[in-house]
Amino acid sequence: MGTSIKKRAKRSAIDLQTRWQKTMQLNYGIPNLQLEHGKGLEVWDNNGLKYLDFLGGIATNIMGHGNPKVVKAITEQSKKLSHVSNFYAHAPGMDLAEQLIHMTGSDEARVFFCNSGAEANEAALKLSRLTGRTGLVAAKGAFHGRTMGALSLTGQPTKRNPFKPLLRNIKHVDYGDIKALKRAVSKRTAMVILEPIMGEAGVVVPPSGYLKAAREICDSKGALLVIDAVQTGMGRTGCWFGYEDEGIKPDVITIAKGVGGGLPLGAMIALGKSAELLQPGMHGTTFGGNPISCSAALAVIAQIRVGNHLQLNKVKGALIRNLISPIVGVTEVRGKGLLIGIVLKSNEAKSVSEKMQQRGFLTNPASENVIRIAPAFIVTESQIMKFVTAFNDVCEEVFHG
Ligand SMILES: *Cc1c(COP(=O)(O)O)cnc(C)c1O
Repeated sequence: MGTSIKKRAKRSAIDLQTRWQKTMQLNYGIPNLQLEHGKGLEVWDNNGLKYLDFLGGIATNIMGHGNPKVVKAITEQSKKLSHVSNFYAHAPGMDLAEQLIHMTGSDEARVFFCNSGAEANEAALKLSRLTGRTGLVAAKGAFHGRTMGALSLTGQPTKRNPFKPLLRNIKHVDYGDIKALKRAVSKRTAMVILEPIMGEAGVVVPPSGYLKAAREICDSKGALLVIDAVQTGMGRTGCWFGYEDEGIKPDVITIAKGVGGGLPLGAMIALGKSAELLQPGMHGTTFGGNPISCSAALAVIAQIRVGNHLQLNKVKGALIRNLISPIVGVTEVRGKGLLIGIVLKSNEAKSVSEKMQQRGFLTNPASENVIRIAPAFIVTESQIMKFVTAFNDVCEEVFHG
């Protein structure tokens, strides 16, 4: 990078931050990058600098930026119909619901479409109330969204505390601790909600057998088991929803993030008897499952199937883990498939992420000592090698220098 470009980029970042602060509320960090366009894993900023996007819009742009088939699906659908209201059916919505049901392996599953992860979890929460019970159990550190109901489930005090009082009758238990879960679940528990891997908490993988035990505990007390697959879902970990390895069947699956390939879309999928709980008029949304987002999702799913990405995500994930693990300063590489948390030996995640950005790679410091990456499924071996080389150089600088 020439010095003049570097200078221009720096000035441009300062201009952006000034403009941002004059317009936006304070809830987000102040960005230092304005992205203009993308192609596959590559994105360009407003100075024409290129980055390899290893965060994928936080596990969302699963087929990459500007994916031609997604673009075509969106374009063609927007010429036909963008919105119809939930008084009418439309083909993309029907097709997508059938696809999702097929993925669950349960013919009796039923779908409710919404726009986001929080909304999917809100829907699950409301559905759980229809069991006649009110107790809720979630994990400490879990992330389930920011709306008041979803926030009540979210197990992170810093996010919850400013907004109390939240929903009552919620217990947060240590993630992965079967005994703690057993103690928390009772005959008054409406639902237990768990992420197959805690994404926002820094890609925390539970011990194997945890979800299976959760299933048994829920069964013994008659509570619903809700799997929040918003981040793990749509094949990222090597199976459709992130829990299948455990050989369980949840009562409810929530998805969002990746399903729309970058467009806003979420779903609450109820299996078995819980699919009969919501009655006409009890829940709804204006935009949820709109034809354009559903068309994008269909284009995404078709490509995942044709490209054999479930299998490939496991292979690519293993490659990244094997190459990153020996790097100096890395104590552990967590995750499954293409949801990966790189644990550093000290709280340098922010600095490592910034240095990666300077070298042209987008990553996320999920916590003080964890770098999260969740690249699009189309990431190539050569892009992975470039990432690993840069990561190695940055770690040399940070942990040796
Ligand atoms: C991101 C996320 C959510 C919230 O999704 P939004 O679309 O931001 O509302 C919920 N659960 C998990 C596991 C997530 O990663």
